[in-house]
Amino acid sequence: MNVYDSERMVEVMEGAGFEQTDRADDADMILLNTCHIREKAAEKVYSELGRFKNLKNEKPNLKVAVAGCVAQAEGEEIMRRQPLVDLVVGPQSYHRLAELEKVAHQTGRAIDTDFPEEDKFNVLGVRPKIKRAPSAFLTVQEGCDKFCAFCVVPYTRGAEVSRPVQNILNEAKELVERGVREITLLGQNVNAYHGEGFQGREYSLAALIWELNKLDGLERIRFTTSHPNDMSLDLLEAHANCEKLMPYLHLPVQSGSDRILKRMNRSHTAQSYIDLVDEIRRARPDILLSGDFIVGFPEETDADFEATLELIREVKYGQAYSFKYSTRPGTPAAERDQLPEKLKTKRLYELQTLLSQQQKTTQDSMIGRDLRVLFEKPGRLEGQLVGKSEYLHAVHVFAPRSLIGSVQSVHITASSSNSLAGSLI
Ligand code: SAH
Ligand code: SF4
Repeated sequence: MNVYDSERMVEVMEGAGFEQTDRADDADMILLNTCHIREKAAEKVYSELGRFKNLKNEKPNLKVAVAGCVAQAEGEEIMRRQPLVDLVVGPQSYHRLAELEKVAHQTGRAIDTDFPEEDKFNVLGVRPKIKRAPSAFLTVQEGCDKFCAFCVVPYTRGAEVSRPVQNILNEAKELVERGVREITLLGQNVNAYHGEGFQGREYSLAALIWELNKLDGLERIRFTTSHPNDMSLDLLEAHANCEKLMPYLHLPVQSGSDRILKRMNRSHTAQSYIDLVDEIRRARPDILLSGDFIVGFPEETDADFEATLELIREVKYGQAYSFKYSTRPGTPAAERDQLPEKLKTKRLYELQTLLSQQQKTTQDSMIGRDLRVLFEKPGRLEGQLVGKSEYLHAVHVFAPRSLIGSVQSVHITASSSNSLAGSLI
């Protein structure tokens, strides 16, 4: 979502006469978009900011801005800890970035971490009609009302909000006109989407996907991230029957221990998750499952951790993300007794070893198969392209550049650590 937000912030500033540059030395304004989900991500902001000190001394007019969830959560503290910051803007007010930049120019510093009434998506300007890469993100839902005990999202991104279907369709059409062939619908709880649809009806994520399925030129639809409790029947049915919806599902479970799930306030059990996975696989047998795991949550015993490994063995993931529990200020779990760092590290290693084996097995099973690949860009080698299979594996193929942006059949011949290779059929 930060990638998407960054693109939109660039558009706001382009509307105010700025132009994007990759070189900090050239910039009149440096914008850091930040993540607050774990401590490491949040701390990185301060070290990154430190790197701009000399530049700021040399160019006193240079504006340094911090956006995103660290800005939301620690705006005042950032201003205090890092005097070189001129501007702080939270994830719900970045459509005001250009005005804020003016304010910072006039008064020295500006901060906006409000949750404004107006819809930032509506206020954001019309995008320039320049060509885009074949795959794009599109935020359809933001915020979360679930309040898992470890998570800052409900505090930084705010309450759950769904964008109206018409706005999403307009944005999707524009993306397709600009060369996009695959759209990944984004939301912290994307499958809880319930936006204003047509004929006064509220649309579910599945209903939205069926609308997008009608869009000529759009070839692939994905969505992320889903909560197990919001996997509705119509979404399973879409996975079974909707041609453009890709057979890949990111469905975080966090832990395989019911005791820990309860302490996490996850409101599902290990068994209900496994039953759900069975249902999903009945609807779409070849679906590739991905997940998120947290190890070392407060009170997690060896038996709890073993239950997580057991769940992984049972589900068999094609891909996954896993993290050591990180205390986040203001969340309930941060107040509890914490496990030693060493134990967290040991458990993470064990968990990741198992997940990597499963990932490798899934990836290797693609060898000999014919997959459909959306070519996205040139590869590292001369004459090579890289694209994504329906299962989201990166695939390297020797093929002409003219095929970028198209979906082609590819015979898979090899599997390496993070990608597949094959030849055009
Ligand atoms: N809405 C999604 C997840 C959003 S956050 C869901 O409900 O699953 C992305 C991932 O970051 C989470 O799934 C979780 O695994 C991880 N995460 C969130 N807070 C964390 C914390 N305090 N420490 C470690 N990992 C965390
Ligand atoms: Fe965070 Fe996801 Fe839980 Fe919401 S459902 S609180 S985003 S982990």
